[in-house]
Amino acid sequence: MATAKQELGELGELLVVQNCPCPKCKQKKTLKRLATNFKCADVICDFCGYLAQVKASTSKDGKTPPKRLLGAAWGPQRQRMNAGIYFPLFLVLVTPKQDRFSIYYLSADLQSEDLFEERTPLSVSAKRAGWQGFHYDLEAAANRLIFVSEGVIAGKRASRPSPEEDEADLLYPEREG
Ligand SMILES: [Zn+2]
Repeated sequence: MATAKQELGELGELLVVQNCPCPKCKQKKTLKRLATNFKCADVICDFCGYLAQVKASTSKDGKTPPKRLLGAAWGPQRQRMNAGIYFPLFLVLVTPKQDRFSIYYLSADLQSEDLFEERTPLSVSAKRAGWQGFHYDLEAAANRLIFVSEGVIAGKRASRPSPEEDEADLLYPEREG
């Protein structure tokens, strides 16, 4: 069963592939989702091979980016920055009810180390003791974000089939009683 956080991430990827042309070759509907365990990117353009990450977050009005956003593991991010590697990022904001969205784009060449904040490693009592993540500093990134798209989220997400997920829940997530 996917967690709420995974579902939000999946919704974000779907909204990007449905609404965003490829930032590099400008073709429409060529961005495709990569497998969940693919580490450095979430979507790929199947025309030109462009890779991008997708981050989804809820936002009260579905438009205003949060000041900071939970990223992923700090170690690989640190190593990529040391190597001068940045990935383009789509930021997907949805309303708490998940009925409206807006998408922003942060290109790789506008990224720098100041946008990535190292977090304190998790305490020894935590489930993943010692694990260290990072935050995106979206306040610092604000004037580098490009607005791409916004709209209404029609119906519920068509999910990538997965044997671990309860399909009825995905098909009828809002059934009552
Ligand atoms: Zn492309």
